[in-house]
Amino acid sequence: MDIKIERNPHPAEKPDSSTLGFGRIFTDHMFIMDYYEGEGWKDARIVPFGPITLHPASTVLHYGSEIFEGLKAYRRADGHVQLFRPIENIRRMNNSAERLCLPQIPEDLALQVLTEFVKLEKDWTPDKEGTSLYIRPFMFGNDENLGVHSVKHTTFMIITSPVGSYYKEGINPVKIMIESEDVRAVRGGTGYAKCGGNYAASNRAGEKAEQQGYAQVLWLDGVERKYIEEVGAMNVMFKIDGKIVTPKLTGSILPGITRKSCIEVLKSEGYEVEERLLSVAELEEALENGKLEEAWGCGTAAVVSPIGELKYKDKKFTVNNGEIGPVTQHLYDTLTGIQWGKIEDKFGWTYPLD
Ligand SMILES: *Cc1c(COP(=O)(O)O)cnc(C)c1O
Repeated sequence: MDIKIERNPHPAEKPDSSTLGFGRIFTDHMFIMDYYEGEGWKDARIVPFGPITLHPASTVLHYGSEIFEGLKAYRRADGHVQLFRPIENIRRMNNSAERLCLPQIPEDLALQVLTEFVKLEKDWTPDKEGTSLYIRPFMFGNDENLGVHSVKHTTFMIITSPVGSYYKEGINPVKIMIESEDVRAVRGGTGYAKCGGNYAASNRAGEKAEQQGYAQVLWLDGVERKYIEEVGAMNVMFKIDGKIVTPKLTGSILPGITRKSCIEVLKSEGYEVEERLLSVAELEEALENGKLEEAWGCGTAAVVSPIGELKYKDKKFTVNNGEIGPVTQHLYDTLTGIQWGKIEDKFGWTYPLD
């Protein structure tokens, strides 16, 4: 598809890469295309970054028809810029779209518009260790009426934001509270879809945890509140008695690309990795018997986030003396090594943009 480009007449100065935070600064342009039932995707365009106007009855404002993705462009040690497994994000976006009755974007079209847009903004990719250009594709229902039905007009956009290192002061393990009241998602619901509504539903528990001095919550399943699902907005993994255990994808868990990559790295190195149901009772027992060796969250933003303390009801447990464990550190080094072009990508996960 041809993309019409309207260049920003006032390009901004690129920020100093040592002062970057997350998602506050945006690049000079944004990508937009629209879908109309019966017509398909059309009007692919790149325009100067800025506010968009929406009809007050726009579907997304009332019924939450919205999905998004998150991936990064990395500046390699040799100066070139590359993506990490972008096709996985595109496939997941289409799965999310299917769940919310939003239209599919054919994979080749999605990859074309993503790479053409990011290539245009590539000079915004910062070069300091740990920094990257965060890419946020998103899609929303944009009908101009209040009827409750699947949407006829959908808007798809991509915005990009240079982001700082997640670990400015080194990788410090975080304190996590097991949440036994609120749930993030239920089987049959939208847990496996990356949709904004899941985040809105999880904010209350996250806020409560923060007030008690915890970084995030560990979510339990929505039916029995018995099985571990995710940690905050990351997938979660444990090393229990020498084996790696991670909750299996039952439908209420978001299938993370970092999760998948961690599993593939570990299996390729001969680790035993179990994707299965893991109850909070089993976790508690492992903590009490000293069999829980490591625990960490994993996702694109942090890569891995070690857990140093777990609180369940009124019991507190320390994990690995509150320090990052060797498997967690190894996953961090391997994935960032591939992303930053420091170690050989034997999996074929990187996607060069220049
Ligand atoms: C995006 C996300 C993840 C992590 O997915 P990655 O592809 O690894 O970034 C995990 N859990 C939730 C709820 C998410 O939204």
